[in-house]
Amino acid sequence: MGGKEIEYVNSAFEENWIAPLGPNVNGLEKEISEYVKVGHCAALSSGTAAIHLALIMLGVEQGDEVLASSFTFSATINPILYQKAIPILVESEKDTWNMSPNFLEEAIEDRIVNGKKPKAIIPVHLYGMPAKMDEIISIANEYQIPIIEDAAEGLGASYKGKKLGAFGDLGVYSFNGNKIITTSGGGALVSNDAVYIDKARFLATQARDQASHYQHSEVGYNYRMSNICAGIGRGQLKVLDKWVALRRANFDRYKKELASLPIEFLNEPSADYFSNRWLTTVTTSSYENREEIRVALEKENIESRPLWKPMHLQPIFKDYPYFGDGLSERLFETGLCLPSGSNMTDKQQERVITTIKKCFE
Ligand SMILES: *Cc1c(COP(=O)(O)O)cnc(C)c1O
Repeated sequence: MGGKEIEYVNSAFEENWIAPLGPNVNGLEKEISEYVKVGHCAALSSGTAAIHLALIMLGVEQGDEVLASSFTFSATINPILYQKAIPILVESEKDTWNMSPNFLEEAIEDRIVNGKKPKAIIPVHLYGMPAKMDEIISIANEYQIPIIEDAAEGLGASYKGKKLGAFGDLGVYSFNGNKIITTSGGGALVSNDAVYIDKARFLATQARDQASHYQHSEVGYNYRMSNICAGIGRGQLKVLDKWVALRRANFDRYKKELASLPIEFLNEPSADYFSNRWLTTVTTSSYENREEIRVALEKENIESRPLWKPMHLQPIFKDYPYFGDGLSERLFETGLCLPSGSNMTDKQQERVITTIKKCFE
């Protein structure tokens, strides 16, 4: 926490707005819109809810196909199944570990030849590193397929000076407890199209028609953010840029201190890419080496984690079409997320660094 969160939470109590609506919810929506420079924002109960509503906004229905990054967290893909639609999993490229424009185009061509144009593309900015948005947008435009930008891990990062989440027809953020800023649990949907956001808010509050009684003509959801959680979010937004700077400093220090070891860091491909370094990740020479480091850290009571297991390897998603060359499978085998918290002290980071160095002595 940054310090100001409790003041917003207290104001919710003082004003007796203990509900999934209120001044903090409205305030957070306005402040997110201003921060990422997107016209409209709906504060929601989770990033997953935001992806689900985004798919509904784009008319994704049973049997429709949706292209998405395979190298991601399952919450990118699950909402496609909520709609009984079909995920088409696209492999990453090596520069950013995000959706490969080449495999994206190959997948689109293949699906069109097989009779059906996909309804949406969901690129992800994994670990806060911007995807190759120019190329992805140009393909999306060529085939006239809308983009849902999964910026759940990318808040505060930017590409060519524009904040992640602001590129898609719809953009998604998460404020889950593990993300760069948190409302304990929560998310947001943003768009420059007011129609999408108004409709998303309507569906997120049980799709109540205009009437004095409760009347419903559509399936609704209970997806709004609590006014208390939104208060936490307003305080967190004030420290977001500071947290990004701290996380980038974590990355820089790891990179500098571990430079002599045979492990690799993912660099920003050019000055166009500004990662929030949500998590510092490294790749090692082999699965065995990765495990040696992970277990050595664990013995010191330091938590580290393998990179996301790609969706095309997950038991629940493995039978869906996949386009790629297996890059994320190798990253999963050899990669590790290092402790990366914004509140990590120099001493704590030193302990991680020393433990990793010992593995190579
Ligand atoms: C965290 C995350 C989500 C889901 O957000 P929740 O708020 O946890 O529902 C979606 N996509 C990615 C890539 C994430 O990391």
